[in-house]
Amino acid sequence: MKTFKNLWVLALSCTLLFSCTTSEEDLTTQSEVPQDVLAKLTAAHFDTSGAKLTHFMGEDGVAVEDMFFSFAQIDELASEAQQPFQKHYRTSNLVTGLPRQITVSVDPNLGNLGSDALDAMIAMYNAENLQLNFTRVNFGGKGKNKADIEVTEFYELESGGFITLGRAAGFPTRKGDPAKGFGINSRWFELLNPSLAEVTGTMAHEVGHCIGFRHTDYMTRESCGQNINEGSARVGAIYIEGTPTGSDATSLMQACGPADRFNANDKIALDVLY
Ligand SMILES: [Zn+2]
Repeated sequence: MKTFKNLWVLALSCTLLFSCTTSEEDLTTQSEVPQDVLAKLTAAHFDTSGAKLTHFMGEDGVAVEDMFFSFAQIDELASEAQQPFQKHYRTSNLVTGLPRQITVSVDPNLGNLGSDALDAMIAMYNAENLQLNFTRVNFGGKGKNKADIEVTEFYELESGGFITLGRAAGFPTRKGDPAKGFGINSRWFELLNPSLAEVTGTMAHEVGHCIGFRHTDYMTRESCGQNINEGSARVGAIYIEGTPTGSDATSLMQACGPADRFNANDKIALDVLY
């Protein structure tokens, strides 16, 4: 078995691998997700080995990788025929109405670490001078005062060798709004005492999903120590012009990666989209 430390380095962005085996618990959990739903997620190149029915940010749906999709969102993913096969990818819907201010807020339950990481994440995006400008607002606002992207706390124990660090509530909507937010697992804080840079990097990764990025290695999940190649399914991922076609191990948008900042190609991808 690989050591804890190596695996930690391997798997910062979304999940942390403790062992390479699939537990009975995982199999049991997966069987709760209807087969047709699993098939749609698989066709959209999500690794459904840990997929589970979940209630998240007020909706019922499925947690898969470090994402959550309502059943309606899963149907939407399944209806999108796109081209994969290169290295940086976006989903079909992007945030529109550019230039645009995106408000973000963080659950006080995530403490000083969550608060400081939110500020650092905002600075990280705004330093790229995109047409999206991120600003912080108070958590818990209603209506017009509700943040475009809310960062909530959830608590989920490690299971079957993995702990989920963050979980994004899908991709941008068809209306062109960002996904409504993401969660950060406070069990991660308790278990592993992550650094500010690690939490900031995970938040930046989850914001990447909220504004339309898929995992750089979504076809292979090589960053998670896997080598999946499912062939030519054409669902839900569009190549971003100008990004490399070779391996990109330092991308912040690797499924499981050590990165806590944008690499040069991430910056190109952000520039192209926003
Ligand atoms: Zn992710």
